[in-house]
Amino acid sequence: MPNAHDRVVIRRHGAATAVACAVVLGAAALSTEALAPKSGGRSIRAEAFFSPGGGCESRIVEEIGEARKNIRVQMYIFTSKRIAEALARAAKRGVNVEVILDKSQEKMTYGPWRTLRRDGVKVFFDAEHETANNKIVLIDNRTIITGSYNFTKAAEEKNAENILIIKNDSDLAEAYLTNFKEHLDHARKAAG
Ligand SMILES: [Zn+2]
Repeated sequence: MPNAHDRVVIRRHGAATAVACAVVLGAAALSTEALAPKSGGRSIRAEAFFSPGGGCESRIVEEIGEARKNIRVQMYIFTSKRIAEALARAAKRGVNVEVILDKSQEKMTYGPWRTLRRDGVKVFFDAEHETANNKIVLIDNRTIITGSYNFTKAAEEKNAENILIIKNDSDLAEAYLTNFKEHLDHARKAAG
């Protein structure tokens, strides 16, 4: 197990990840415990996962399963049944779940957003941009999941993708929350 006092815990999943981790997290790996930033008393941690075959979807589902208060999602394309089911389970256990999708998703006849809405997830569409291309999950204002990964079968099984999961960085989480709220302000709630 990684040392809890490490500034950044790097776990590599999938193939050919060392370079990407070094680029993303570079200087952090050189830090010492004495320099370790704390956020709410907890060390900042980051993990990277890579597709295909790197377990991105499973890890996203796992993180959603640990949510206690709120989940905020910004996603361009959302067709993953597993992730939709995880969000629905969260909503059913009382977690406030808000999902902002690109406007293109509204036209999808069988888009999971339709069932999500019935399960108590608040769904919005952002039509203010050429593409609402963010891929972000913010959980309990503590966990940030972001990267290239759309919630799709192709992202999980075929594409070259990545997600970075960052925990306990309160300043960074605040920045993502502010960004989420800015988009929520001009997004349109799903009809019905
Ligand atoms: Zn927007």
